[in-house]
Amino acid sequence: MQLELKHIKGGQLDQEYSCAAGDFPELVRLAGAGESAYRSPINLHLRFILSGRMIEVIGHIQATLDLTCGSCLGTFEYELAEDFALTFVPEVEQTDQVPEQELAADELGLIPYREDRLDLLFPVQEQLLLAVPMHPLCSANCRGLCPQCGADLNTTACNCEKKVFNSKFGVLAQIKGQAD
Ligand SMILES: [Zn+2]
Ligand SMILES: [Zn+2]
Repeated sequence: MQLELKHIKGGQLDQEYSCAAGDFPELVRLAGAGESAYRSPINLHLRFILSGRMIEVIGHIQATLDLTCGSCLGTFEYELAEDFALTFVPEVEQTDQVPEQELAADELGLIPYREDRLDLLFPVQEQLLLAVPMHPLCSANCRGLCPQCGADLNTTACNCEKKVFNSKFGVLAQIKGQAD
């Protein structure tokens, strides 16, 4: 995934990309580890805006993932649609000051490019990873697993469920009773 700057004619270019999840090494690793699995294709819309030697990239990702619910541990399909923005700046010449300058660029979220070519794979991969929810839930109403018997309360009604949910006061009375 590369773009040569000469293709940005008139200062702006819109590009559509249809990528395979297998194009991104970190996504392959995560799927292999049984974590978030991106399905193919991953659709990307990127708008490149030239501003001097700096290039702003306004991006939109649309993709489908298989995620594990943090509450019931079930696998579910997640539709992802996320906007992001990246800024590419020319890489500075190799001098003694390079480490400092590169650090500064990195802190500002700027991505260096060289030879009039933007390397998009790793910056886009980072955005894909950031777009995955930290605590995925299969639904806002997911009832999770029974803390006592481990049954999936979305599909099963176990016997211990009643004790936990029906009578908060009953449980309190029980605890009180034990304490007495
Ligand atoms: Zn769930
Ligand atoms: Zn139970």
